[in-house]
Amino acid sequence: MAVYPIVETFYSIQGEGLYAGAGAYFVRLFGCPVKCPWCDTKNSWTGKPNLSLSSDEIANEASLSSCDFAVITGGEPTIHPLQELIDAFHERGIKVHIETSGYMPKNIEADWITLSPKLHSHTHESYLEAADELKFIVSSEDEISLYLEKFGGYLRGKKAVFITPEFSKSRDAELLNSICETVKLYGSPLRAGWQLHKCFGAI
Ligand code: SF4
Repeated sequence: MAVYPIVETFYSIQGEGLYAGAGAYFVRLFGCPVKCPWCDTKNSWTGKPNLSLSSDEIANEASLSSCDFAVITGGEPTIHPLQELIDAFHERGIKVHIETSGYMPKNIEADWITLSPKLHSHTHESYLEAADELKFIVSSEDEISLYLEKFGGYLRGKKAVFITPEFSKSRDAELLNSICETVKLYGSPLRAGWQLHKCFGAI
């Protein structure tokens, strides 16, 4: 049975994407080779994991909550063999959402995939095609254009594509206005994104 390096597990609300506001059981796995300079979870790839848990231990703990779905995040969760963990959740009737940057080729079957590709890192085509929703984290107006240039060919058929301000820029009126204007210009599936859990002070 696989054992996973864990930063934290917790039951909270999903703060981003189309499931924002719903209760979700989070599993934050340790390790990320992508190393974004603005990463707000650097504890997921610096230092070491806080504990190791098997797929059954993780899924058993989640089943004590009233969650409908678990979110496996990181770090970059797909550097780990995730299918066993996904299956353990499914055996307990819990759906699984994956949050990934698309760093690895897709080799899992999950119920929902949120892909947050990065401008400075390679994104595997298999995730660009399979993702249900995309999330572009932007620090400047230029980055909005760069994301659309690099990934614009993959927007068709997505349930939503969020343009979200990097959190330290979430009060930057110019950037917020640029996001709004971009959404108004191009329409669906673009949406202005936000990190709801941070407004609620939820972890
Ligand atoms: S991919 Fe995610 S976890 Fe990894 S450094 Fe970037 S923001 Fe942080």
